[in-house]
Amino acid sequence: MDNIIVVNNSILLNSLTKLRDKNLKSSQFRKEVSNIAKILLFEALRNEETEMRKIQTPFVESDFPSLNEDEYVLVPILRAGLSMMESCLKVLEDAKVGFLAIKRDETTLESKVYYERLPHLEEKTVIILDPMVATAGSITKAIGIIESHNPKKIISLNIVVSKVGAEKLSKFKNVKFYVGSAGEDLNDKGYIVPGIGDAGDRCFNT
Ligand code: URA
Repeated sequence: MDNIIVVNNSILLNSLTKLRDKNLKSSQFRKEVSNIAKILLFEALRNEETEMRKIQTPFVESDFPSLNEDEYVLVPILRAGLSMMESCLKVLEDAKVGFLAIKRDETTLESKVYYERLPHLEEKTVIILDPMVATAGSITKAIGIIESHNPKKIISLNIVVSKVGAEKLSKFKNVKFYVGSAGEDLNDKGYIVPGIGDAGDRCFNT
């Protein structure tokens, strides 16, 4: 499972604990999700290659390291992934954004793609945003679609991954998963326990 990196960060854990509280208001829920998304993104891009860019500082002109931000494509998986998008875009302001809407049939638990709008992914670094990986059905579908566009690299940011989900993700050797928690249980309705509940419902107050 060396492609699954559990990000050990006290601020992240503090936010995750707040998310677990069923009484947390939607507005606060979105705020904590944003915090976690940012921390996961920092960790995922910690060792990214930078290129030197000429900058005129208030004193001298010189070359400094910078990221080519528009080489990155964020792909939130709707709905819940949207809650991670805003804070990632605050860090990578010039990233592009593509959308995949995938819905889980609540009885069969099968994932269906019902909306797909992706920019060119070839040679790009794609960052999937999906807070919850339960059965891994949705993210497996998303990775399949993204891989078919030949990106340079695929990274995934996930807040909670179940044990079953982690086993499935470990098979995607070409994808690195940066996660807040891995190894939690799944109940018979496909929810992660202890988990944080239905992330989409809790984010959007439905
Ligand atoms: N999706 C969620 O939002 N929560 C879960 O617990 C499982 C899947």
